[in-house]
Amino acid sequence: MTAKLYEKDAYIKEFTATVIDCISADNAFKIILDKTAFFPEGGGQAADIGTLGNTNVFDVQIENGAIYHYTNEPIEIGSEVIGKINYDRRFNFMQNHTGEHIVSGIAHKLFGVNNVGFHLGEELVTIDFDKELIREQLDKIEYLANQKVWQNLPVKAYLPTEKELKKTEYRSKKEIDGAVRLVEIKDTDICACCAPHVKNTGEIGIIKLLDTEKMRGGIRIVLKCGNFALQDYKNKYQNVSQISALLSSKQEKAYEAVQKLDEKCTAASQKITELKKKIADMAVSAAAQNDTCIFVDGCDVKELQLLADKLHKKFGGIRAVFSENTGNFSFAICAGDDELQELFAKFKSQFTVRGGGRGGMVQGTVEATSESINLFFEF
Ligand SMILES: [Zn+2]
Repeated sequence: MTAKLYEKDAYIKEFTATVIDCISADNAFKIILDKTAFFPEGGGQAADIGTLGNTNVFDVQIENGAIYHYTNEPIEIGSEVIGKINYDRRFNFMQNHTGEHIVSGIAHKLFGVNNVGFHLGEELVTIDFDKELIREQLDKIEYLANQKVWQNLPVKAYLPTEKELKKTEYRSKKEIDGAVRLVEIKDTDICACCAPHVKNTGEIGIIKLLDTEKMRGGIRIVLKCGNFALQDYKNKYQNVSQISALLSSKQEKAYEAVQKLDEKCTAASQKITELKKKIADMAVSAAAQNDTCIFVDGCDVKELQLLADKLHKKFGGIRAVFSENTGNFSFAICAGDDELQELFAKFKSQFTVRGGGRGGMVQGTVEATSESINLFFEF
């Protein structure tokens, strides 16, 4: 059995241990130590990473009570190694994990919801509650949770005696085998948990509830605490300041400025559609009976289809419309179906064509010169 240093002291960054076993696994080695400060993945929290001697530890897992440190290099059995965990990353996890306890504890007390899922990864922290919560409830939870941070309350993790455990009311995310470890945040919450937490709530810094998503009668909440929240604020601040500079608005008015821009874009795109229809009508008016193939500027396939259809309705026969792109032409050809399929087969045999169609209309793109296209339609 490996002694779990992280259970007694979550602030150990470096430790010396003896290698008990080194097992070769798929492209990796599983190192067992007599003691470790590396937290193995569990309770929704990702594993610690770091180094053992000169070897990187890229994962830590607990399987049937044994803690395996996954490395790329073997380490001699019986040797002493210095273990160093990536402490900045771990501390971020401790901030988020302790923040999650506070949020879950308050949500449970105030609204009777239970935490039924927790995920703590490199960037994303989510809590799943078994009942829905509305924005006002979430705002209340968030505010009270931050108050608990400002009060800098002690966080105690301990293994209670059986007698103590019986007397204690605590939350538990799942059925626990073996000894129950309790994490108690003064005047806030008691929850069974195996992971490392901060000693005082002030170390969390800030608790911010972000996006929510309904799921299976409950709600998933994205949460960011401490440094995760700071990085999130930094990114969002940068985004908002760039958007507001671009739109010459105040930062707090950025949303309104974007809304106005969106309205302008919608109006402009409606105008463009109207103008394109007019251009199509003008092209139809200008076309003559023997203009089987015409070229227009700046039309997409949909607009070309409309134009070909109008020309076909006016003059009948084969009506082909082309619009030049970089390196190819978009096209739409409208004609009687049998006639069209025969023509299109010939067209495809002569040029590199992408596209097709039915019911009297084919469309797509073609790699050709305008001269060769004109020549093709002069039959
Ligand atoms: Zn915990």
